Amino acid sequence: MAQHFYDYIIVGAGSAGAVIAARLSEDLDKRILLIEAGGRDTNPWIHTPLGVGKLLTNPSVVWQYFTDTGIAADTPKVYWPKGKTLGGSSSVNGMVYSRGSRRSWDEWRDLGNLGWSYDDILPYFKRLERRLGGDPSYRGDAGPISVTDVAHRSAVSQAFIEACHALGAPKNDDYNGPSDEGVAPLQMTVHRGKRCSTAVAYLKPARRRKNLTVVTETMVNHLLFDGRRCVGVSGVRSGNPFEAHASREVILSAGSIESPAILERSGIGNPAILAPLGIELRHGSEQVGENLQDHLQVRMSFEIVGETTVNDLMNKPILGAIEGLRYWLTRRGLLTTSSVTAHAIMKSHQQSSHPDTKIQIALISGKDRYSGNGSGLDQCAGITLGTFQIRPVSRGGVHVTSADPTAPPSIRPNYLNDPVDRQHTLSGLKLIREVVAQSALKPYIKQELLPGTAINSDEALLRYAAETGQTSWHPIGTCRMGSDAKSVVDPQLRVRGFDGLRVADASIMPTMVSTNTNAPTILIGEKAADLIRQARLS
Ligand SMILES: Cc1cc2nc3c(=O)[nH]c(=O)nc-3n(C[C@H](O)[C@H](O)[C@H](O)COP(=O)(O)OP(=O)(O)OC[C@H]3O[C@@H](n4cnc5c(N)ncnc54)[C@H](O)[C@@H]3O)c2cc1C
Repeated sequence: MAQHFYDYIIVGAGSAGAVIAARLSEDLDKRILLIEAGGRDTNPWIHTPLGVGKLLTNPSVVWQYFTDTGIAADTPKVYWPKGKTLGGSSSVNGMVYSRGSRRSWDEWRDLGNLGWSYDDILPYFKRLERRLGGDPSYRGDAGPISVTDVAHRSAVSQAFIEACHALGAPKNDDYNGPSDEGVAPLQMTVHRGKRCSTAVAYLKPARRRKNLTVVTETMVNHLLFDGRRCVGVSGVRSGNPFEAHASREVILSAGSIESPAILERSGIGNPAILAPLGIELRHGSEQVGENLQDHLQVRMSFEIVGETTVNDLMNKPILGAIEGLRYWLTRRGLLTTSSVTAHAIMKSHQQSSHPDTKIQIALISGKDRYSGNGSGLDQCAGITLGTFQIRPVSRGGVHVTSADPTAPPSIRPNYLNDPVDRQHTLSGLKLIREVVAQSALKPYIKQELLPGTAINSDEALLRYAAETGQTSWHPIGTCRMGSDAKSVVDPQLRVRGFDGLRVADASIMPTMVSTNTNAPTILIGEKAADLIRQARLS
């Protein structure tokens, strides 16, 4: 068996893992190994923003997970793709760049996670981003991740902004500045019309360093221990057994499904779950895989007039070719977007004390587009308005179902289990109808396509949510960080009960940061690298 020796091993080259590997490799006397289950990020659709639609069902770049059950007992299972390539989900995501509210970060501190308040983490946001022209007390202009405004100018998107404003959403010049509340064109992880993943922004420059080794198509199955110390990983590389040893630390950055799965396969988890699978218990930790949270997105679509949308590009080859040429020559137009162009972080009711809902506009429409077996785009020009409750209450879990690493995991998001979540989802759908009824947007709307105006009662709308709601691809929380003894990792991200082992990815988030999760996860990578370096110096 091939054996390899390093100071640090990072498992998973995604939004957090690529960052940690790049930052730790800045210390040239340290040997770093970054292990990625997927392949290199060579698929050209990864780098073309609108190409995201081509990636979501491509097993060469995504893990194709499904939830155990549908949202209701008789509705289809929900498709849960996750990135499986260099850059991880940052290479296949929608590129929306959003930090979340100060309030939701401060909640992490209030839960006992010292060092994670908004003021504590702000320097890391500034360090990771390159945002030109922002307020320097909030924004960074010299970091690896390029953050640019959506490059496609669209009249219907502007009308959406005016419509949300008419309903009370402030126009927000910088929702990654002092406040996230309000309506705005999106900020994107896009550089000169191309996706700026963590593989592009962090790994590409770092790979010139001889002390950084990146191996792809290598699946880590288990952790190796010497007593209570984690000393390495084992798995499979190109069909052959693979082992690597770390003299200092192993860092799990395999994401919210695989990081807890690796712990469980290594005997760290709830004895009641591991024993029936024949997995020998190394350390009882009942919270591993629990506390799963996600944004359930429910979408309504509308036929529109007066603007070309992605539907037209796909349905009319000449138009598609012209837009392709425009992108190639000018790096502008619809291909520079994931189709989503603007969002509003709003209060769903007058009585709400804080923003609780996100609504976003996408210049595309079709039935069942995200289920993994969608029936294509509408023939007409169309838009989709999607909504999610920014801080869901329902909690679920993700667990291994077998000691065999190739067995699919059990995923139970428990969407809409909590009545508060049902109420917010309903309010979000009603708010969308109010938005399209505003005088700014109304002239563009020819008809509501989905669900259709006949679906009107609360009961019917909730049924629609259960039938068509999809993940917003933001699973978090399954290796919860906390200061309490039950948490999986402590606020330094160290796995409780062990030395030399941390988790650093979206799974450590104790609660939802009230927005899309890529920027917060990159931040977790930046902060983890600092914590690891500080531990070495102390
Ligand atoms: C389709 C999609 C759209 C999204 N859109 C947005 C958006 O527009 N804006 C936003 O902010 N967020 C978005 N997100 C969410 C965001 O991208 C994720 O929250 C974030 O990337 C998670 O980072 P991570 O480091 O936890 O995991 P990932 O980035 O998923 O990285 C985990 C990596 O570990 C690898 N891995 C897993 N298991 C193993 C193993 N056993 N051995 C070796 N390697 C392993 C995986 O292949 C993967 O590369 C989206 C996500 C998806 C999937």
